[in-house]
Amino acid sequence: VARNPGEAEFHQAVREVLESLGPVIDRHPEYLEMKMLERICEPERQIIFRVPWMDDKGEVHINRGFRVEFNSALGPYKGGLRFHPSVYLGVIKFLGFEQIFKNSLTGLPIGGGKGGSDFDPRGKSDSEVMRFCQSFMTELYRHLGEYTDVPAGDIGVGGREIGYMFGQYKRITNRYESGVLTGKGIAWGGSLVRTEATGYGTVVFANEMLKTRGESIDGKKVMVSGSGNVAIYAMEKVRQLGGLPIGFSDSSGYVVDEAGVDLDLLKQIKEIERGRVSDYAERRESASFSDRGSIWDVPVDVALPCATQNELNGEQAATLVKNGVKAVAEGANMPTTPEGIHVFQQAGVLYGPGKAANAGGVATSALEMQQNASRDSWTFEYTEERLTDIMVNIHDQVATTAESYGAPGDYVMGANIHGFEKVANAIQAFGLV
Ligand code: NDP
Repeated sequence: VARNPGEAEFHQAVREVLESLGPVIDRHPEYLEMKMLERICEPERQIIFRVPWMDDKGEVHINRGFRVEFNSALGPYKGGLRFHPSVYLGVIKFLGFEQIFKNSLTGLPIGGGKGGSDFDPRGKSDSEVMRFCQSFMTELYRHLGEYTDVPAGDIGVGGREIGYMFGQYKRITNRYESGVLTGKGIAWGGSLVRTEATGYGTVVFANEMLKTRGESIDGKKVMVSGSGNVAIYAMEKVRQLGGLPIGFSDSSGYVVDEAGVDLDLLKQIKEIERGRVSDYAERRESASFSDRGSIWDVPVDVALPCATQNELNGEQAATLVKNGVKAVAEGANMPTTPEGIHVFQQAGVLYGPGKAANAGGVATSALEMQQNASRDSWTFEYTEERLTDIMVNIHDQVATTAESYGAPGDYVMGANIHGFEKVANAIQAFGLV
C-alpha cells in the first residue's frame, strides 16, 4: 500500500488474489524465496502520456493516457483499453493485474496488460472521438506490436474506436499489422464471435456452475447489469439457453421487463442510436425504468453483473440471497465488493469471479490473433465452438484446482491458484526477470 499510494482498486484486486495463495506457498516455499509475489505485483512497465485533442468548436482538451504492461511471462501483453472519466492509474493497474490470471486461465499464449484514458466518449461527436483516438494512438503506437503488446476494447472502446486506432497505427507505421489490435471489424481482420464472446462466455460459465448442482440456465430468470457490449450478448446467450433475461441498467438507472428483454429493441437503442436505457422503457409497454433502489433488489435465479467494478455490495448481495439467487457469474471485472463475495460464499451461492467467468472475450481475441497470424478467417460456428470449449475447460480446471486445494466449489480460490501457478512457473523458468 505504501509503495502504491491511493490505488484503492489495485489494492483490492491484489488482496483478493494473495488471500487465495496461502496453500500454494505452503506447497511451494520456493516461490517465497524467489520473491514471486513481489514480482507478480510489480508491472513490467507503466506508460503514462498526454493526449491533446481539439473538439468540434476548436477548443483544446488534454487527457491522460495509460498503458500498463503488467506481465509477459506467457505471451505478449494483452488486455483492453478503457475510455471513461473514472480512469486513473489505480483502475488500470487493477485491470492489468486481473488480466494476468485471466489470460493464464484461457490456456492461450497471452500475457497481461491494460490501458485507457480518462476521456469521456459520451456526448462526443464521431469526429471528436476520431481525433481523440488518433492522438491517443500517435503516442501509444511505439509501445505496441503483435509480438509485444496487443490492446483490445473495454468500457467506452468498441468497434468504432478500434477502427480509428487501427487506421492511425497503420498510417504511422506503414504496416498492415492485423495482429496489433483485436476487436477489429470483420472486413479488416476481425474475428466473428468477438463482439458476442464475453457475454456468451459468461453465460456458458454460469451454466457449467449450475450443472454441478444438476441445474442449468434453462427456465431461469436472469438479471444483467449494464447495457453495453458484455450485457447485451450475455442476455442473448441466456435466451439461447432457454432462460429469461428480465432487466438491465446504465449509470442513470435500471429497467425491469418481466415479459423478457426485447433484444432487437435494446440493440437498436444502444448500438445504433447510442441512447439510454430509459429510452427502452418509453418504447416498451411491459418495461419500467427506475432510478431508485438497486437493480439487485429484483428477485431472480441468476445475477450477471456486467457493468463495472464494485457495483454489487454486501447489502445488495444479501438481498439477492434473501430472494433466492442460485448463481452469480461476473461479466464485468471485479463488480462484487469483498463483502458481497463473502455473503455469496457464506450462503453457498455459486459464485464465478470475473477473471474466470468473463475470460471468453480475451480468449476470442487470442483466436482473432491466431486467424491474423495465419491470414485466415473462421466461420461463426467454428469460432463459437472454440469459445465454448475454452469456457467449459476454464470452469473444469478452476473447479478441479479448488478441490485439489481442499476448497471444493470455491471458484475464487480455484481461479487465483490455477492462474497464478502457470505464470509463476514460467517466470521461474526465465531466471531472475
Ligand atoms: P460498455 O462500455 O460497452 O458498457 C458498459 C455498461 O456499463 C454501460 O451500459 C454503462 O452505462 C454501464 N455502467 C457503467 N458504470 C455503471 C454504473 N456505475 N452503474 C450501472 N451501469 C454502469 O463496456 P463493456 O460491456 O465492454 O464492459 C463492461 C464490463 O465488462 C467492464 O467491467 C469490462 O472491464 C468488462 N469486460 C469487458 C470485456 C469485453 O470484451 N468488452 C471483456 C472482459 C471484461 P453508461 O452508458 O451509463 O456509462
